[in-house]
Amino acid sequence: MRKNIVAGNWKMNKNLQEGLTLAKELDAALKGKTLKCDVVIGTPFIHLASVASAIDTKKIGVAAQNCADKASGAYTGEVSAEMIASTDAKYVILGHSERRAYYHETPEILKEKVLLALANGLTPIFCIGEVLAEREAEKHFDVVKSQVEASLFNLSAEDFGKIILAYEPVWAIGTGKTATAAQAQEMHAFIRKTLAAKYGEKVANDTSILYGGSANASNAKELFSNPDVDGGLIGGAALGVDKFLPIIEAF
Ligand code: PEP
Repeated sequence: MRKNIVAGNWKMNKNLQEGLTLAKELDAALKGKTLKCDVVIGTPFIHLASVASAIDTKKIGVAAQNCADKASGAYTGEVSAEMIASTDAKYVILGHSERRAYYHETPEILKEKVLLALANGLTPIFCIGEVLAEREAEKHFDVVKSQVEASLFNLSAEDFGKIILAYEPVWAIGTGKTATAAQAQEMHAFIRKTLAAKYGEKVANDTSILYGGSANASNAKELFSNPDVDGGLIGGAALGVDKFLPIIEAF
């Protein structure tokens, strides 16, 4: 079933103590509130277990920001989907543009990560989005369609139903340059149409599609009021409760 979701991506920010403080502050701020969306926080790997045991994970889901493309074994420095699941994290952000650009994650690698995440009961928050040159060349629809096709369209309809998508135009991430509500709606509707053509209307309608890219307390309401925008993946504005809470409450 399609849900409204506000997910924070802390990226490589906050040491363990700072991260625990932020998670506990958010937990306290949400206590007793009835929310109109699910809330998720994507922490660095080493924070996952401590954060998950310090908060009410029924109210705030915990996400990793990546997982290995191998199940286990001699892959020094990697963290497997199984390890993530063992911390009580329930989500994993995959395909973020920073991982695609700086760590050379290809559609094929991401396909493996998605399969391992699903096999270990994690919900992938799968990021897609075009760079500025692609938008200027009016290739943004083709780019996003091929990202979805290349890493996700191998899934059965049942498994695809477990995926959350995040449309993040790369030119809007961390730049203060948000996509307009109309640009977001146009792309989200296109993505839903692409899903419907492959998996049928029900799967397409049940898929949550989040917007990411300089979303904040002042633009969240307008972005979320679009029929095909089911929430946000939030970077910078997830690093303080004062900025994150108003986005959650924009629903
Ligand atoms: C992100 O990193 O996913 C993101 C959307 O960042 P920001 O909100 O800072 O643009």
